Amino acid sequence: MTLRVGVIGTGMIGQDHIRRLTQVLSGVRVVAVTDIDQGRALTAAPEGAEVFDTPQALIRSESVQAVVICSWGPAHEEQLLECISAGKPVFCEKPLVTSEAAAIRVMDAEVAFGRRLVQVGFMRRFDGDYRRLKAVIDGGTLGAPLLYHSVHRNASVPEGLYTSDMPLNDTLVHDADISRWLLDDEITGVEVRVPRRSLRGKDLRDPTLVLLHTVSGALVDVEISVNIGYGYDIRGEVSCEEGVASLPNRPATVISDHHGIRQAIPEDWRERFIDAYDQEFREWIAAAGQGTATGPSTWDGYAATLVADAALRAVESGHLEPVRMRGKPALYGVPVAVAA
Ligand code: NAP
Repeated sequence: MTLRVGVIGTGMIGQDHIRRLTQVLSGVRVVAVTDIDQGRALTAAPEGAEVFDTPQALIRSESVQAVVICSWGPAHEEQLLECISAGKPVFCEKPLVTSEAAAIRVMDAEVAFGRRLVQVGFMRRFDGDYRRLKAVIDGGTLGAPLLYHSVHRNASVPEGLYTSDMPLNDTLVHDADISRWLLDDEITGVEVRVPRRSLRGKDLRDPTLVLLHTVSGALVDVEISVNIGYGYDIRGEVSCEEGVASLPNRPATVISDHHGIRQAIPEDWRERFIDAYDQEFREWIAAAGQGTATGPSTWDGYAATLVADAALRAVESGHLEPVRMRGKPALYGVPVAVAA
């Protein structure tokens, strides 16, 4: 069976996902697109796809079985609620939404529908390196995880468009989500420290150091550097009771030449996570074909939203800011047990 998909938002990542859905993956066809900018939608539309005037019309169209949302964050809530009301599986790029209240409205709608429909675009969970790291931790041979060191470095960010809040409400969500998933834990509080600024970032607050506290008592430190210059460098290391497990540096090819021995660094997130994006859509297509969703859920999007909110408060207050989650609905699995 071929899954007929409509894509909302045909900007940078929308176009990349259309490429993957039309040229890389099987069992799927992009039959509809829409964007606030109709010209952009027309240009991005693959052959045979219908261009709709509004997201609502696309979602309600009988030719669309499942939806991919790649519009900007503040538009996600309305589009997600429309998909849930139409009973259509939906892949939503991160962030799920941009406020706690909006996350709760989406969660309540999905719970009332009674079946998972939403997968959030936390692609790191589909990356082979992260999956192998998680398998080692879950295997238990290293004992309990105690500390996770997460490093998130971008070569540069667009001046003027990327603001000082964005390391905390746009970039950190990936590290927060992967920490919760790797450690099978929930985040209970956030601290933020700001060292001397990098001159490369001009007026930007950069870098930023975040400390995430968890239910089990494990701690996660996150370095976010968004103007590091040399490339897109993602690292992770888990210190456990009996040993340490780390992500390999990617790509792993070792180059030896007259400069010495070195490894190349990916230019950006598209290069580093290209296989992860493909895999997240493979799994989304399989679940959406069954009328449901797996992988990162509305609950996970809600958790990331709360962490981002707490981080923004923490950078202002200089204190540990609590993350208070509501009770976990059964639709999203078993709650994390509170440490004795
Ligand atoms: P972008 O290039 O600005 O593309 C967004 C597109 O959606 C634009 O064409 C925009 O039109 C359109 N749009 C905005 N509101 C809309 C609405 N209500 N209905 C229909 N179209 C609408 O942004 P992007 O970089 O592709 O990012 C899109 C989403 O993906 C964001 O939520 C972002 O956080 C996420 N993202 C995730 C990753 C990841 O690693 N998972 C990476 C990059 C981006 P206008 O430009 O005219 O507003």
